[in-house]
Amino acid sequence: MPKIKLITFDLDDTFWDIRSVIFPAEINSRKWIETTLGEKIDWGSLDNFMNIRNYLISTDSSLEYDLGKLRKKIVEHYVHPYFDNKTAQKAFINEAYAHFLKERHKVVFFSGVTKALKELNKHYMLGVLTNGNADVNLLGLGHFFNFSISSMDAKSNKPNPTHFEMAKEISGIAFQNTLHVGDHPINDIRGARDLGINTIWFNFKNNPWELDKNPPIEFNQWSEFINLLSSNYD
Ligand SMILES: [Mg+2]
Repeated sequence: MPKIKLITFDLDDTFWDIRSVIFPAEINSRKWIETTLGEKIDWGSLDNFMNIRNYLISTDSSLEYDLGKLRKKIVEHYVHPYFDNKTAQKAFINEAYAHFLKERHKVVFFSGVTKALKELNKHYMLGVLTNGNADVNLLGLGHFFNFSISSMDAKSNKPNPTHFEMAKEISGIAFQNTLHVGDHPINDIRGARDLGINTIWFNFKNNPWELDKNPPIEFNQWSEFINLLSSNYD
């Protein structure tokens, strides 16, 4: 087994459950917008919301990886009828986005995450590779990591190789000495595997492995991670 020197981690659904954060964040963000505007907004159904999102992405492909810009465009879609003044509208949208980001960071770490990172930090270089817009520095985890790469930084989403290639460039550590840990079979495990990066799958929902006949090493409790790592790698 290769010697691991760098461990990279996905964030959403790897360190915390994203659904329990993102839905309340969406609801609170809408409440904030209505209260601040003093207007009742017709938000439509989830399908409408997804259609608007997909339409906006079709008009500007950078919105696929620039989630901040995408969210601001979505807010603009709903609030533009209430503004005559573009400067005031822009300021409002920026404030709405700041509010959403604050809500989006109200995550609850899976049990054992911080303890594992504290221990790993003593022995390995650690990095973050996320397709989302969570910031480990806003979550009190920043000091554990040597670097953090978002889709904004990569101008691309995993499983595209850019996040992984940037990690190699920043760390100077070869793919064969890198381990990537994440929940997503395609974005995390296949994306890393295709480059020759070692992988461990965080499978907190105990899903079957369906991509091929070669299931990755997996775990569903962060308290198991250190033992799993040392029994599979030096
Ligand atoms: Mg994830």
